[in-house]
This record gives sequence, structure tokens and C-alpha cells, in this order.
Amino acid sequence: LPRKIVIIGANAAGVEAASSARKIDRSVEITLLTKEKRPAYSRCGLPYVLGRHISNFENLIIFSPSYYHLMKLDLRLECTATNIDKNSKTVDFRDKTGNQEELQFDDLIMATGSRPFVPPIKGLNKAGIHVLRTLDDGQKIDRALEKSKSIIIVGAGLVGLETAVAGIERGVETTVVELLPYILPQTLDRDIAKLVLKKLEEKGLKIMIGSGVDEIYGTTKVRGVSVAGKKIPADTVVFSTGVRPNVELAQKAGILLGETGGIKTNMGMETSVKDIYACGDCAETINLITHKPMLSQLGTTAVNQGRVAGINAAGGYARFLGSLGSSVTKMFDLEIGATGLTASAAEKNGIKTVIGKLTSKTKAEYYPGAKQITIKLIIDRLTRRIIGSQIVGGEEVTQRINALSFAIQKQMSVDELSVAETCYSPPLNETWEPMVLTAEIAIRKLKRQKD
Ligand SMILES: Cc1cc2nc3c(=O)[nH]c(=O)nc-3n(C[C@H](O)[C@H](O)[C@H](O)COP(=O)(O)OP(=O)(O)OC[C@H]3O[C@@H](n4cnc5c(N)ncnc54)[C@H](O)[C@@H]3O)c2cc1C
Repeated sequence: LPRKIVIIGANAAGVEAASSARKIDRSVEITLLTKEKRPAYSRCGLPYVLGRHISNFENLIIFSPSYYHLMKLDLRLECTATNIDKNSKTVDFRDKTGNQEELQFDDLIMATGSRPFVPPIKGLNKAGIHVLRTLDDGQKIDRALEKSKSIIIVGAGLVGLETAVAGIERGVETTVVELLPYILPQTLDRDIAKLVLKKLEEKGLKIMIGSGVDEIYGTTKVRGVSVAGKKIPADTVVFSTGVRPNVELAQKAGILLGETGGIKTNMGMETSVKDIYACGDCAETINLITHKPMLSQLGTTAVNQGRVAGINAAGGYARFLGSLGSSVTKMFDLEIGATGLTASAAEKNGIKTVIGKLTSKTKAEYYPGAKQITIKLIIDRLTRRIIGSQIVGGEEVTQRINALSFAIQKQMSVDELSVAETCYSPPLNETWEPMVLTAEIAIRKLKRQKD
């Protein structure tokens, strides 16, 4: 009899796990269960459909049905796994008609993802309140933007700000409310966040920092929110206040969770229960710098972990070493990227840092169209290693963040970066690569601190 792999959740992590398992074993039976009515799609693209950069939500669907057919993946849409029995190695699920069925597995992969977290504030039961996680959520917000005069986004993380930018691009008055003292607090330090804030405000986005939403007012429909006693009118409110991993099913089955609340795994993405793996937003990862558990909750981590879980479940060998949480985004004409620890996260982890920071140009100074780019490097004062970077600029941010992510993974010191060979041509870069110059600035600071 062929071996059987069951995968719960069929988005980024689940589908990558299935495809990777298939590449290892051509005969294993692979069944994917998903609650959703569509096959895997890019959540990351949702804000860009809202902003009309992508014409249609359906364009976000990653593979056509023929892909699943070709790869012999049995994709069951609108099927919700309800119970896992680790002893009999079975999964119970319910289909859309309410029928309950059972699947036998040799290996099981949990790829159940995460769901939006909405803080318990007054007035949540009104029409006009949204979250952005699924394609259906996106379509609802899209319709709301058609009719709204003003919209409030609660939370200035990546998803919140990307959604807010879409609001402005659709000509809707948009206000972001952030409880913490600066925007993108998980991704950036305050100084870099200030640069982003300035750009966003120049484009017409209103941003209120340092206070939370106390209440949503209106009768049955949202009329606005109150923030620190002040009423701000709005037709639509979108909560973008973080996500929580979907772990209840795993927990009920006796699979151990880690201290972050995600499913605990080893480097092979194996959980505490033999033959059960976990990957993606529902699983923990290890921070490559602090070596502490973390929830990465990025699509990039999801596919990497999914790949490892799929290969191992199919009898191959793969390892996922951990994450730096590298991320990049584009808001209006500004690119924003980060990798590793922020200076404030480093300090919280007891790491003494030295900072290099520089604003330069993306082409030779004299070349028409050169754009500004600001690079911040975070250096561990003791080891002189690069442990983080944040970059904002008009272009060329992504590949610099990638390069610095490689450097951090390879434990490169700031001294090595300062003598690294880079390339130059007037239309493409400055003679002196800005990352290298930033490293030199950090070295001078390190020296001053020693003297
Ligand atoms: C608006 C937005 C923008 C984003 N932008 C980026 C970006 O630019 N870059 C980036 O790296 N990441 C981005 N992300 C994050 C990225 O989308 C997630 O990290 C990624 O989707 C995680 O994939 P996953 O497969 O682990 O989980 P999910 O995508 O959450 O998929 C899990 C699936 O499992 C299903 N499921 C759960 N429980 C069950 C059950 N019991 N039975 C059956 N099915 C179940 C869920 O319905 C869901 O379909 C963004 C997210 C959002 C919402």
C-alpha cells in the first residue's frame, strides 16, 4: 500500500510541503484539507489589489487546478479538520455539507496558519468592521472602499500600513491609529520609522501614534472611533492588530506548544509527536541571532518550513535553521526593508550595540534620477558582527536587505563588510556602495568607544 501524508491547511506552507513531498516520493498519497473555498493564494498581494496595482483578486491564486492534478495532490476545499488521533493516526474532518469523514495518515503536516487578533474593545459588533487575512476579507474591504468617505486602520504594522496606503490610492480619507509610540514597531527602530512616517504623511495619510482606539461608536453601523477621548468619524474600520497562530487542533491532540504559543518543532519541523510535523504561521521558529523561539509569521518562512516538513514527511532529509525575520515592502514610492534585530530588540536581549547610519544615493550623484537611500546597520559591540539592518529608499532596497541577510547568516563582521567588494556603474550605483560606507561609520564609532 502507498504511504499516506495528510496536510491540514493548504496555503503557503501546506502547498509547499505537498509539492516538496511529491518531488521526493512519486507514489505517496497526499491529501490537503483546507477550510477555504479557493486553492492557495497570495495573502501578501491583497493590499495591492485593494490599491488597484493588481486588477483582480482571482489573480492572486497561485496554482490552477491542473497543477494539483499534475502533482497528484488530492486538494479538498471547504473541508475543516476537527480532530487528530495520534494513536490511531487519523484525522476527522467535516466537508461543506456537514458530512464528517476520517482520513488515515502515516505522516501528518500541520499547516494551519494564523488568524487576525482583534483586541476586546467596546463596539466591535457593528457593521463596517473588518480584518484583512483572507481573499473574502479583501473583497469585503474592496466593496467598503467603494462606498466609504473615510476609513480607519487600527495598527501600524506592515499589513496595516499597506492597507492604509491602498485607502489613499483609492481616494478615501485614511487614518491609522497606533498604540505604540512609532509606526512599524516590530520592524524598524524609531529613527527609521520617522523617515517612513514623514513620507506617508506627505502622501496624505493621517497617522496617530501613541494612543489606542478606546471605542467604536455608531448604532448598528460604524460611525467612527474614539482615540484618547477624541472622536474620529469613519465609515469603515480595519483592525490590523496582529495575528495568533491556529494551534487549538494541535493542542487538543497533545502536540506541545512553545513559549511563543506556536507549535514547537525541531529543525526537521517535527513536533513533539512522532510523524507529525508543523510549518508556517502556526509553528515557532528560532531567531538566528538570539537563538530564542519566535513567531516569524512571514510567507517566506512559511514556504521554507513547508519545504522542510514536506521533504522529511516523504522520507527525505532537510533542515530549517531559523529566521532573521527579513521583510520588505513598498508604500507609494518608498521601499522599506529590514533584517535581523532592531537596535531596540537587541538592547532588550542584552546585546550592546553600535549603530552605523548613512543617507546616500542609488546612482552616481551626477546621474539623473538618483534616489535617496538610508541604511542603518546594527552591530554587536562585543563580537563586531552585523546583527541587523533597516533600509528605506526610493529603489534598490530589497537586494541590499538580502545581501545583509546573507551577511548576518554567515556571521560577517562589520570589518569584513567594510572591505567587501561591490560593483558600480553611474546609472546603477555609487562608486562606494552605501552599505560599505555605513560599515565604515560603525567602525569609527566602535573605535571612538574604545579610545
Ligand atoms: C495582507 C497580508 C499581507 C502579507 N504580506 C506579506 C509579505 O509581503 N511578505 C511575507 O513574507 N508575508 C506576508 N504576509 C504573511 C503571509 O501571508 C503568511 O505568513 C502566510 O500566509 C503563512 O502561510 P501559512 O500557510 O503558514 O498560513 P495561512 O496562509 O494562514 O494558511 C493556513 C490555512 O489553513 C487553513 N486551516 C486552518 N485550520 C484548519 C483546519 N482545522 N482545517 C482545514 N484548514 C484549516 C486556513 O483556513 C488557511 O487557509 C502577509 C499576510 C497578510 C494577511
